[in-house]
Amino acid sequence: MRPRRRHPSRVETDPGSRRQLTARGPILLWRDGTAGRREGLVCLVSACPNPACGCRDVWIDGLLIDYRAIAVSGGERRLRVSWPAGSAPPATRSWPLRATVDIDKRTVTPRGDGVRTDLVEWLSGELDEQLLALLRERFQLAKR
Ligand SMILES: [Zn+2]
Repeated sequence: MRPRRRHPSRVETDPGSRRQLTARGPILLWRDGTAGRREGLVCLVSACPNPACGCRDVWIDGLLIDYRAIAVSGGERRLRVSWPAGSAPPATRSWPLRATVDIDKRTVTPRGDGVRTDLVEWLSGELDEQLLALLRERFQLAKR
């Protein structure tokens, strides 16, 4: 059996942190949510999938979790959240956050319909040099 080219990575959640910028696998952003409970934005990162395309776009697909989530894992298109028994929220069929980040122009734009603009704004607010550097690394890895 051929090993898969990109292995899914598991990230233990750390809701008390500001964010978890992993070299591989999902990245997590954290903030105080309703009633002072921490909520997290789990983001899958992938590059524009067209190898012939000259753009510098990174795709972010994200969904919300809260402090109870134990771990998240995933590759480029799939995401799995581990919850303690009985606390898993109902599964959602679509991504509340789908955005394109231009890693040169530093723009964040919603991708498609039904995207929550507050989550796009959250991601935009986190887009500093550190996060940009990480997205550029991911882009290079994906386009290799
Ligand atoms: Zn492209």
